[in-house]
Amino acid sequence: MKAAVLHAIGEPLRVEEVPTPHPGPGQVLVKIAAAGVCHSDLHLRDGSVPPFRLPLIMGHENAGWVAALGPGTVEPGTGGLAEGDPVVVYGGWGCGQCRFCLGGQEQLCDTMRWSGLAPDGGYAEYLLVPATRHLLPAGSLDLVRAAGLTDAGLTPYRAVKKALPHLLAGTTAVVIGVGGLGQYGIQYLKLLTSATVIAVETAPAKRQLALSLGADHAIDGSAAGALEQIRELSGGEGPAAVIDFVGVDATMRLGLAALARQGLFVLVGLAGGTVPVGFFTQATEAAVTTSNWGSRNDLAEVLALAQEGKLTATTESHRLDDINDVLKRLEHGLVEGRAVVVP
Ligand code: NAD
Ligand code: ZN
Ligand code: ZN
Repeated sequence: MKAAVLHAIGEPLRVEEVPTPHPGPGQVLVKIAAAGVCHSDLHLRDGSVPPFRLPLIMGHENAGWVAALGPGTVEPGTGGLAEGDPVVVYGGWGCGQCRFCLGGQEQLCDTMRWSGLAPDGGYAEYLLVPATRHLLPAGSLDLVRAAGLTDAGLTPYRAVKKALPHLLAGTTAVVIGVGGLGQYGIQYLKLLTSATVIAVETAPAKRQLALSLGADHAIDGSAAGALEQIRELSGGEGPAAVIDFVGVDATMRLGLAALARQGLFVLVGLAGGTVPVGFFTQATEAAVTTSNWGSRNDLAEVLALAQEGKLTATTESHRLDDINDVLKRLEHGLVEGRAVVVP
C-alpha cells in the first residue's frame, strides 16, 4: 500500500510503498477514506513531542471503511462489523485492561499505544486497528469531514466539558487559537453554554472564521492591551474559563492573568509553554488543568452532535501525495479549519 512515512526527526515524510498489514485475531483492517493533519504531527515530526518509534506512519484522525476482519471479531449480522461498514477510528488506544481503559478513557492509559505515534497511523491506504472497540459507526456522515472529529472535534469537546461547571449564566469563556481544534471549541461553547465567547487569535482570517462560527468577539491576543480588552469584554471580572489551544508561555500567561476568581484554565496546546503556579499567583482560587484528547464516550457524543447536523466542520481536502505541502501550510498557519489527506 501507499503510505507517508516519517524516517527521521525533522525530515519531510516519504511517500512510498509499504506492506499492507493483515488483521490478526481480534483486529480490523480499515481502508482509509481520509486522515486529519493535526498540529501534533508537526510536534512529532520536529521531535518536540518525540514519536515512540521510527520509521513511523503518522496520522491519528482517521475515518474509512472496514476492509477485512481478523479471526475472532464479531460475526457480521450479529450487531458487529461487516466489510464495507463506514467507521471512524477512536485513536487513543490503550491496554484495554486498566481502570482508565475499562472506563473508556483509553487515552489516559499509561501504555499509550496511540495510533500514529506507534503503532502506525492513517497516512496510508490502510490502517490496522488492534480491536473492534476502537471503531464507531460513521452512519451517514461524510467521511472526509468525519476524520477530523476523532481529535480536532473530540479534544475540544472534552476541554469544554471540563469547563461547563464554571460557565454559569452571565459568564464569559475565552478560546485561544482558532485552528483545527479551536473551531470546534467555539461551537461547543455556543451549543452547551450561554457564556459570551471571546476568540483570541493572531491570524485575521481565523478571527473572521471564529465570528462566523458564533464567537461574540474575536481579538488579536498579541496586540498591546489584549488583557484589558478581555477583561472589559467579560464585565471586568474576567472569563470564568479559558481554553488554550496554543500553549506557549505567552498564551498561558495571558489566559491565567485574565481568569476570573475561581475560574478554570484548560491547557490543550502542546507547544510546551509553562507558567509559574503558586499561592500568590493563584490566590483567587483559579484552577489549572490539562485536557488530554477524549474518551470513547466523548467521541460518541461528538458524533451524535455531528449526526444531528449541529457542527460545522471547516475542512480542506488534499491528496496524501501532497502531505509535506499540507504540513507546510499548517506550520505557516494557512489551513482554514482542519486539513485532511485522502489516499
Ligand atoms: P492549528 O495549527 O490548526 O491551530 C493553531 C491556531 O493557533 C492557528 O489558527 C494559529 O493562527 C493560532 N495561534 C498561534 N499562535 C497563537 C498565539 N500566540 N495567540 C493566538 N493564536 C495563535 O493547530 P491544532 O491542530 O488546532 O492544534 C492546536 C494545539 O493543540 C497543538 O499544539 C496540538 O499539538 C495540540 N493538540 C493537543 C491535544 C490534546 O489532547 N491536548 C490534541 C490535539 C492537538
Ligand atoms: Zn491531534
Ligand atoms: Zn489501559
